[in-house]
Amino acid sequence: YDAKRHRAGVRVWHDDIAMPLGEDLQILTELRTAVAEGQLRLYYQPQVDGATEQVRAVEALLRWQHPVRGLLPPAAFLPQAEVSDVVVDLTDWVVNEAVAQAAAWLHQGRPVPVSVNVSAACLADDRLVDVITAALTRHGLPAALLTVEVTESLVMTEPVETARRLSAIRELGVRISVDDFGAGYTSLALLAELPIDELKVDRGFITRMDASPAHVAIVAAVAAMAGSLNLTLVGEGIEDLATAHTLRDMGFHLLQGYYFGKPQPPESLSLPIAYADAPIRGPR
Ligand code: C2E
Ligand code: MG
Ligand code: MG
Ligand code: MG
Repeated sequence: YDAKRHRAGVRVWHDDIAMPLGEDLQILTELRTAVAEGQLRLYYQPQVDGATEQVRAVEALLRWQHPVRGLLPPAAFLPQAEVSDVVVDLTDWVVNEAVAQAAAWLHQGRPVPVSVNVSAACLADDRLVDVITAALTRHGLPAALLTVEVTESLVMTEPVETARRLSAIRELGVRISVDDFGAGYTSLALLAELPIDELKVDRGFITRMDASPAHVAIVAAVAAMAGSLNLTLVGEGIEDLATAHTLRDMGFHLLQGYYFGKPQPPESLSLPIAYADAPIRGPR
């Protein structure tokens, strides 16, 4: 048993079986450096108004500009980070960077709400609310311009504690979004009791609507439910105009997907200047 590896979050009981885990350990070591040396990036994907196709919000998506391996997507390092304490530094960085960017846009007259993804491990920690509070204060960002995305699986495993922590974050004025909705096993009763503002229907459902009438029916039912619960409804993974129109007609407030724009560095994103009296997004 290797205490140091245990602290790194890698479950290793014998040094001699560590071969496949060795790679993960190297990723974790490099990731610590990456945070400290500024190798992390946030890319931003537009979320457009279903009716006008104007950009209404963006989602921040993490990338790692690795010195040797190039630009890495979250799938290449997040699973390893999530079983380690590195995920805490990573989330601190993401929250702070996204809030700084949103504040910069706001000061340019582009008040665009920014969504950040938060790992289960971080929501299981009471410190997250302090990190968010500090970032909002430091950059002078109104809380309403920040959305925290959590996944259903997280909400399910620890419903009471999760609801309490989400409430603390929401009390700041930050919006709460349930990501990948439909992919997990959230009960509808639980959903009604959670302090949430937004549902993002899982990409899997959106993609399958093309070939499966059952998926169209399910997405339509979710849309009706979100409407009754007064939740902002977001569709992700939209790759064609027909899907965009279907979702718009179902009442989706925000549409996100390669059809409207891939995740991109902040300087490549073209954001409209908002009219002062235009609502920024759907119902709170
Ligand atoms: P997610 O939050 O559900 O984000 C949507 C993912 O779908 C992103 O992948 C995005 O690039 C991709 N996507 C968007 N539109 C389309 C489309 O039209 N077609 C297809 N095929 N894909 C589309 P990405 O950036 O690789 O992120 C994957 C996941 O990693 C995210 O899923 C999220 O769960 C996680 N993640 C990303 N950034 C962060 C972060 O800063 N912190 C944490 N904890 N997790 C993050
Ligand atoms: Mg997300
Ligand atoms: Mg998602
Ligand atoms: Mg996801």
